[in-house]
Amino acid sequence: MTDTSIRTRFAPSPTGMFHVGNARSLLLNWVVARQSGGTMVLRIEDTDAARSRPEWTEGILAAMAWLGVDSTQYEGPYSQTDAADKHTEAAQGLRKEGLAYYCDCTRDQVQARRDNPNLGYDGFCRDRVLDAGPGRALRFRIPEGGPTVVEDQIRGRVEFPHDALEDFVIARGDGTALFVLANVVDDVQMGITHVIRGEEHLSNTPKQQLLWEALGHIPPVWAHAPVLVNDKRQKLSKRRDKVAMESYQAEGYLPEAMVNYLMLLGWAPGEDREIMPIEEMIPLFHLVDVNSSPAFFDEKKLRAFNGDYIRALEVDEFVKRCAPYLGGEGVPWRIEDFDADVFAQIAPLAQSRVAVLSEIVPNVDFLFLDAPVFDEKSWAKAMKPGVGVEILTAAIASYSDEALSWDAESLKGALEQAGAAQGLKLGKAQAPVRVAVTGRTVGLPLFESLELLGRERTLTRLKAALNRLSS
Ligand code: GLU
Repeated sequence: MTDTSIRTRFAPSPTGMFHVGNARSLLLNWVVARQSGGTMVLRIEDTDAARSRPEWTEGILAAMAWLGVDSTQYEGPYSQTDAADKHTEAAQGLRKEGLAYYCDCTRDQVQARRDNPNLGYDGFCRDRVLDAGPGRALRFRIPEGGPTVVEDQIRGRVEFPHDALEDFVIARGDGTALFVLANVVDDVQMGITHVIRGEEHLSNTPKQQLLWEALGHIPPVWAHAPVLVNDKRQKLSKRRDKVAMESYQAEGYLPEAMVNYLMLLGWAPGEDREIMPIEEMIPLFHLVDVNSSPAFFDEKKLRAFNGDYIRALEVDEFVKRCAPYLGGEGVPWRIEDFDADVFAQIAPLAQSRVAVLSEIVPNVDFLFLDAPVFDEKSWAKAMKPGVGVEILTAAIASYSDEALSWDAESLKGALEQAGAAQGLKLGKAQAPVRVAVTGRTVGLPLFESLELLGRERTLTRLKAALNRLSS
């Protein structure tokens, strides 16, 4: 449905890494704006000066762009601190209208007056008509009556009785606004029609809805997306779980796989389809179809998903996407020893075997290193007495024979024969050769690997392994 007046907003705080929960909120806001021809606004909520840092803002913008939401896709970025005067003005306006009042109670005084500390502030200063001053907080007067009813697109009707809402603080004694107010003032000023965010903000929502009304505006459409949980049904936490978009990017998740997976948290496009490009999802998505129960962020499933996406790439594209992992810092080979042509030849074999792009490195390192790096466990397993020396010796003999054509098919046939002579099936006979050449027991198809490595380098490695075994 086209409705260009729809304005959503993504309002992250630049206080840490870009969390998967942020990414999910971002996508919901972006999809809702896109499907209606409306606009998504990006607002950086940087009013917490102690915790906000410019590099986190950079990280937000970079992670967004990685996910495909670059600066052409949103209005902004705006900085919340730039609107500080507006926040103060709104707070003073509410006070002038008698909708907010100053309070000088300390926490201890409030506690002393209440037998049940959970009840919160008791409204003691409501009619004391205090002036502004140091240590005095401006509180919003919860109106008589109630309940406040939040009509949430995802959770349905949520009622908040007014006796459970205290007169909450909207500004400090020095005039600066608190988050709960600043967030609303910005939304009002920016003409936001849909507030779509994580469930953790639901408890703010009745207060914010009352603020919208007190400021003389019709509240927006609300939607609170379910919390994300790990395999133990615990809320995802940065201390316990891998939540930073940056880590997923570094490991070699494809952004389109990540976007697809994030959209499936609490929602499905129907007809049992899961793999679907975002452009196809946009017209199918409806906030009201999102499930309100906690959504399992299943890293294993995401990984499998990513593997599917990798396999679906054109080989050339796969090669291109691997480039940062092959030429960057930290590769185990000398940069000048990397050979793009050789990689292009092995790429189709590797493509079907990696679930994340960074796994490409241990799969192809044997091609670009002078000698393989032996994994000692693999070595012990493959080079058992009665197998290692015998197979390596036989392989060296038949692979040295210039009459043997150096192609995967012939190499396989020759090793099959050598193995049979020792009473070994090909699977068993391959292991010592594979470890000698690549350093590991698992990897890409062996004979194609040998073909690419070439006769001379293969023989050098087989001989070196035999030496290592006999010494
Ligand atoms: N800055 C808030 C956060 O990052 C978002 C608040 C909102 O979306 O209303 O959690």
